[in-house]
Amino acid sequence: MECSSYKGRFAPSPTGPLHFGSLVAAVGSYLDAKHHQGKWLVRIEDLDTPRTIDGAAEDILNTLEAYGLYWDEDIIYQSQRTAAYEAAFHRLQDAGAIYPCCCTRKEIADSALQRGDELIYPGTCRNGLAQGKAARAWRVHVNDAQISFRDGPQGDITQNLASEVGDFVVLRADGLFAYQLAVVVDDAFQNITHVVRGADLLCSTPRQIYLQRLLGLTTPAYMHLPVAVDAQGEKLSKQTLAEPVGKNNASSTLFDALVFLRQQPPAELRFSAIEQLLAWATANWQPETLLNCRELGLHESAQFT
Ligand code: GLU
Repeated sequence: MECSSYKGRFAPSPTGPLHFGSLVAAVGSYLDAKHHQGKWLVRIEDLDTPRTIDGAAEDILNTLEAYGLYWDEDIIYQSQRTAAYEAAFHRLQDAGAIYPCCCTRKEIADSALQRGDELIYPGTCRNGLAQGKAARAWRVHVNDAQISFRDGPQGDITQNLASEVGDFVVLRADGLFAYQLAVVVDDAFQNITHVVRGADLLCSTPRQIYLQRLLGLTTPAYMHLPVAVDAQGEKLSKQTLAEPVGKNNASSTLFDALVFLRQQPPAELRFSAIEQLLAWATANWQPETLLNCRELGLHESAQFT
């Protein structure tokens, strides 16, 4: 068999058990990797310690195994990677790309422009901290350039970080490194060539590409899968208390996940062994069916049981 350099990953945050929405991201990233004879890695994103739930990482890993989703290399845990994030932080600092910021959430809310749910940082501390103020967070200075990339299902995406995001945080006020920095450092460390994840992270991707460029790292290919929303149009998440996926009826739930991803597994495979269903799904993986699809309601999928 031809040796593929494809490396994909699934990077769950252990803030609760795997729910249908996160299973979809796991399955999509697994199938894309295996369809290309690639490797599939798992990284536990337990960086945000205040949100981490004891035992959630083990539970997620047990669930992946129950679904036949076995990873190809040792798992890495972000909680053990602080030295790597520190090194990247210092590289950014040496390059003059970041600056300390003393603004509180309230001060930002009072002076920022709002875009959707996100606040665009108005650049208050860009030219130095106000007299007598202490640094809280560190932000990266963005420029006015457009960041563009071609996404698998979502097509050409362009974002202007200056007008749509503003200078963003790389080291948080609570002393933790921000997701945007950690994800970029870890994707590069694990030699990830393809990032397949939920479309809720589509708007984070230009920030990640910007950091990759500042740090001299390669930009992987991106594919953002539709996120599952409930009947109220809310994203299934641990915050909306989405139900955990069961470990006992894995074939049937995996079948539902495939239908959600607009694959067309033969009906009889719903009750087959998980290995058989995964083998079918790997051989027949067609992400083209998800063109321009960022959200899908579970209720829209007729075959759910
Ligand atoms: N840890 C993130 C989450 O669970 C995913 C990060 C990523 O795939 O880049 O939402």
